[in-house]
Amino acid sequence: MRILIANDDGYLAPGLAALVRACRGLGHIDVIAPEQNASGTSNALTLNRPLQIFEARGEPVQGFLVVNGTPSDCVHLALTGALAQRPDLVLSGINNGANMGDDTLYSGTVAAAMEGYLFGIPAIAFSQAEKGWKHLDAAAAAARAVIDQVLADPPGDRQPWLLNVNIPNRDDAASLPRRVTRLGRRHASEPVIRQTNPRGETIYWIGPAGDAREAGAGTDFHAVAEGCVSITPLQVDLTEHASLGAWSARLAGAARP
Ligand code: MN
Repeated sequence: MRILIANDDGYLAPGLAALVRACRGLGHIDVIAPEQNASGTSNALTLNRPLQIFEARGEPVQGFLVVNGTPSDCVHLALTGALAQRPDLVLSGINNGANMGDDTLYSGTVAAAMEGYLFGIPAIAFSQAEKGWKHLDAAAAAARAVIDQVLADPPGDRQPWLLNVNIPNRDDAASLPRRVTRLGRRHASEPVIRQTNPRGETIYWIGPAGDAREAGAGTDFHAVAEGCVSITPLQVDLTEHASLGAWSARLAGAARP
């Protein structure tokens, strides 16, 4: 068994080391992670400059491969030449904060796992529901329990799969019930934060993510609010299949003069 572990919070993030520790004994582990925090970079690949890889020294990051790029860069490089052998499983996280609902579109944590999935490898993204790393070891134990259970009874059709796991920040995280969920929805982001820099110029900070808008039973938000570990199977196809017919009637065929 070969496992590739990445994240988006950067190679020094406690969540990465915790996930690596939790996976000990599962097989050969390779770790590749961004040099700097790359949260919110989604599936971005760096195409306008070369990338470099160096090997981190000193515990707890000894041997981690570090890339001056994005989470997707990391996994992409690993799977296209940086690793001697292809992994059987790609893991990402543990992220500092939730990746639920719309977060999954912006998340570098989900993107790193998705990069593995796009290369045909099963993948799991892990996030703690709240920022601050509280009860991180319990979250890592919860992650390991999910990994063990999936490996013990993997989907049998040899298709890759992608799971998005959100773990409540609780000391009993590893023994919490699990729920398989769908993504909820957030309200639009909070307003931009406008400030003046030391040179008198106006600068802007992207506002925080909005609160949950669709958080009913069955969603990831609902499960985590009820103290459960949320597991959402993800797909990549963004096609709105239900409206294909209606748009086809409106727009398909020859252009009208
Ligand atoms: Mn992050």
